[in-house]
Amino acid sequence: MENKERIKCLIIGSGPAGYTAGIYASRANLNPVIYEGLQPGGQLTTTTEIDNFPGYPAGVTGPVLMEDLKKQAERFGCESRWGIVTEVDLSNRPFQVKVDGEKEIEAETIIIATGATAKYLGLESEEKYKGMGVSACATCDGFFYRGKKVAVVGGGDTACEEATYLAGMCEKVYLIVRKNYLRASKAMQERVFKTENIEVLFEHNTKELWGDNGVEGCTLLKKMGTPEEEEVKVDIDGFFLAIGHHPNSDIFKDYLKVDEQGYIVTEPGTPKTSIPGVFAAGDVQDPHYRQAVTSAGSGCMAAIEAERFLGE
Ligand code: NDP
Repeated sequence: MENKERIKCLIIGSGPAGYTAGIYASRANLNPVIYEGLQPGGQLTTTTEIDNFPGYPAGVTGPVLMEDLKKQAERFGCESRWGIVTEVDLSNRPFQVKVDGEKEIEAETIIIATGATAKYLGLESEEKYKGMGVSACATCDGFFYRGKKVAVVGGGDTACEEATYLAGMCEKVYLIVRKNYLRASKAMQERVFKTENIEVLFEHNTKELWGDNGVEGCTLLKKMGTPEEEEVKVDIDGFFLAIGHHPNSDIFKDYLKVDEQGYIVTEPGTPKTSIPGVFAAGDVQDPHYRQAVTSAGSGCMAAIEAERFLGE
């Protein structure tokens, strides 16, 4: 028989959900192993200052917070490993897992904490100004644009919610919408239209961002691809993407129940997936809150459930 490594509690993903699951699972003697994935530390490592994670009265940077969480998990014996889980077979227990296409593991329980990835437009200048005026999270970064002008791209509920949130602290918010209508719910649209300092730019697409020292403006194309196409320049200090997220659930979809956007479906109020022994925590199962602290909370819940499951 092949000599596969047997792991009691395998945690896939190393954001706040993964590391918090690691803290709880190691303290419960489950000898957890975390595979860190493509972006060790998760989405927060791409943000700068975090002011809304409880326990840091003076704020903390994303990379430092993630390093702290990792150290805290390791203090209790949680092992973090470089590596990407590339394949799973959840049809029987122990679950079969392949890392980096070669290493084979048998896991008695799995906590999926693979997160979600914000979608970007794919512009070169967007990449250039990431963390210097370009953000995909108004709740995380809006505070830095108090009294300034910003733009939000998107026409869904997230874009409307973020535009309204930013309007409460910024001088002006441009909502850049590629169609001639908003996809967001009626209630959300009304909030946007009622807010005086939000200007909705329908039928506009972003061509480029510019600025010498971070974002100073954007060039938009009005009625792109039509005979009336027109270039419009707007001065802004911040550019927020709200064009959706992609939950990192692709390798689990054949086994677990996911919603139409790919978010893993959990039993309400619990991290339990459709397969006993497999739990999901953080953004991969949460299209609504997507906060570091809510992810951490659900990571804790997943570890507690894994412990109970193994004890039964
Ligand atoms: P959505 O997929 O609903 O909306 C994405 C928006 O981004 C659409 O307006 C889309 O335009 C636009 N978009 C996509 N790609 C591009 C692009 N390349 N250039 C310009 N615009 C683009 O995502 P959301 O994150 O808004 O919402 C996800 C889910 O979460 C939804 O079900 C939503 O209802 C829910 N949600 C609910 C909230 C609440 O109830 N409080 C708050 C936030 C989200 P187009 O319309 O042209 O396709």
